[in-house]
Amino acid sequence: MEHVNQSACPACGAESFSTYLTVKDHFLSKEDFKLELCNSCNLLFTNPRPTPDRIGEYYKSEDYVSHSSTKKGLVNKVYNWVRSYTLKKKMSLLKELTPGRKLLDIGAGTGHFLAKAKESGYVVLGLEPDEDARKVALAENRIELKDLSLLHSLEETFDVVSMWHVLEHVYDLRVDLEKIVSLVNQDGVLIIAVPNYTSFDAQYYKEYWAAYDVPRHLYHFSPKSIIPLVESKGLRFEKMLPMKFDSYYVSMLSEKYKGGSMLKAMRIGFLSNQKAREGLSSSQIYIFRKK
Ligand SMILES: [Zn+2]
Repeated sequence: MEHVNQSACPACGAESFSTYLTVKDHFLSKEDFKLELCNSCNLLFTNPRPTPDRIGEYYKSEDYVSHSSTKKGLVNKVYNWVRSYTLKKKMSLLKELTPGRKLLDIGAGTGHFLAKAKESGYVVLGLEPDEDARKVALAENRIELKDLSLLHSLEETFDVVSMWHVLEHVYDLRVDLEKIVSLVNQDGVLIIAVPNYTSFDAQYYKEYWAAYDVPRHLYHFSPKSIIPLVESKGLRFEKMLPMKFDSYYVSMLSEKYKGGSMLKAMRIGFLSNQKAREGLSSSQIYIFRKK
């Protein structure tokens, strides 16, 4: 398949980078992709990457988007339990961060987060590029999401702008991030959750680390790269928080790709979480504030 080679870093525009790792698309195409590390800003990015009109083909799998809540079985029960626990945690985080109630979720998926927020009194707007996901959001959660293409025509501002595992997929990183930052109001916060390639589990699994998820993940962030990047757009970094279930989930998936054991996955997930305070957990939530 045709890919685009990037001669400049998608975050800072520098032209000097070095190959960090070569990773297989374990999930779908089995193609190899190179990860390159920018020598200026520490961003790790997938290079070359699919063209914008072909990237959709890499999402074409029944498993990728957890669209349906109607599946039966134990795994699904656990999944639903984890989701409702995670949603409660997200709601208490929102309340702790700001009394403001105007919320924009970018990459809203099937709308579970926004449905919960709406139920808790938030005025919500959600953007989602996938039409099927938008349909599920309406059918299952009664949330009417808008197409992501609306992003650049938004003129209002929000108390909270959230992106749960979305920034690593955004095609035009610099332009979109600038727009996203401009949507945060004077007392507002930006919440960004992304995988952390400097986590304990990432360093343990290397090319098998499931959260590289190439080529769907175009960028691979670490505290060292994402904090200066967002601050350069005009926000102030406040804190980061671990996403503890992700450490287990990503380790399980990585063991699956590696042909290893689930017991081992539990151990690695546990160790990543033990090291969360040092910023070594699998996925992290970063909180940025306007002032
Ligand atoms: Zn860079």
